[in-house]
Amino acid sequence: MLHLWNTLHRKLEAFTPIESGTASLYTCGPTVYDRVHIGNLRAFTFEDVLQRVLILEGYRVKRVMNITDVGHLVGDADDGADKMQQRATKIGKTAWEIAREYETSFREDIQALHILTPEFLPRATDHIQEQIELVQLLEAKGFTYRTSDGIYFDTAKLPAYGKLSGQKLEEKEAGARVEVNQEKRNGTDFALWKFSPAGEKRDMEWESPWGIGFPGWHLECSAMAVKYLGQPFDIHCGGVDHIAVHHENEIAQSEAAFERPLANYWLHNEFITVDGQKMSKSLGNGYTLKDIQEHGLDPIAFRYFCLGAHYRSKLNFTWEALQAAQNALQKIQRWVMDYKKQATRKEELADEATLVDFRAALQEDLNTSKTLALVHRLLGGSLLSHDVVYATLVKMDEVLGLGIADWEAKEEVIPAEIQTLFEARQAARATKQWAESDRLRDELKAQGWLVEDNVGGGSLRKA
Ligand SMILES: [Zn+2]
Repeated sequence: MLHLWNTLHRKLEAFTPIESGTASLYTCGPTVYDRVHIGNLRAFTFEDVLQRVLILEGYRVKRVMNITDVGHLVGDADDGADKMQQRATKIGKTAWEIAREYETSFREDIQALHILTPEFLPRATDHIQEQIELVQLLEAKGFTYRTSDGIYFDTAKLPAYGKLSGQKLEEKEAGARVEVNQEKRNGTDFALWKFSPAGEKRDMEWESPWGIGFPGWHLECSAMAVKYLGQPFDIHCGGVDHIAVHHENEIAQSEAAFERPLANYWLHNEFITVDGQKMSKSLGNGYTLKDIQEHGLDPIAFRYFCLGAHYRSKLNFTWEALQAAQNALQKIQRWVMDYKKQATRKEELADEATLVDFRAALQEDLNTSKTLALVHRLLGGSLLSHDVVYATLVKMDEVLGLGIADWEAKEEVIPAEIQTLFEARQAARATKQWAESDRLRDELKAQGWLVEDNVGGGSLRKA
């Protein structure tokens, strides 16, 4: 039985799907105006683990992740420029070009992290009609009003507004910063449809019953969730930063329109901090997967790094911590490669006792760090045969997603000068010239090769 921490009810609950055997999952996707940063990637990795655990538990997973390619404004209070348009103007491209370019890089990133591609990856711009119809429905039910710059949702009309964050409307109002838009009735009201500014031709704009413009950011999630999953669906995920505004507004639109809950379970992952600080553009610490690769680190080391912490805990990113994750990952890799070099391998069943512990850790609100500890316990001094250990690793990897079955035993190509140094070192060792032997070993290490002394004499491998 899978127990998940439900943000809405603030407790650990046994997961019960709406439709037996199927889990419907909505996960807020990227705004494709730039490369996604490691904070986004942590959320996507957590959601991938959730999907894989649901599959392991026997569910068919119906998952939607939206691609926000219009309408996400710089300010959370429906103010500021459209992120897509702003970026497009800055680098002399159209918003359409930006959207497709960064959607491609997003898809590459999730592939590099072994994130299963969601069954549905709908774009906001491909669902304008659905969004207009949702606003019409809200309009018919009296939840909307018009200002000079758009159609807004009146949060005061929905008594349950704020139930996800547990804040009352007045508290939110009090906490809100000075309103830019004086025409809004309540500080928490938000745009459903924004008008294109007078005299300005946007790259992305559409006709609507209210005038030419574009949908508000929150609207796409409500419209696409009901289209692909129905309402209510089972689980809604996102980062904790979405709770106070984006997810409250999704709930408001969907529940006002259809008069039933949007989702039954809400799971949110915590932030990544960088060197103990919040990620921000001004600090230049919004690292991307490309930065990680340029540091010579493996994207899967980042996945491993995320698995090392509980999704509801803050995770502090440093280059040293990522390197440590890579080192731990390489330990597993080396074991697997060595195993695959053996001529006498047998197919075996995975070790049931380990799998019981593994599933128990995941069933208790996805305790991935415990599962990594189980992996290392298995490799270090297990009484099981190597064949059984390998079979168990492969089974666990259905959730961990490290790619263990695809790691190939590579014969390392050793350059001639390294081989010469190595032979000299072995000769020095054989004649007990310890100082010289150590000097040559250090020399090899400086050049990136490690000498491993073993029963058969010694071997070389890349550091
Ligand atoms: Zn969303």
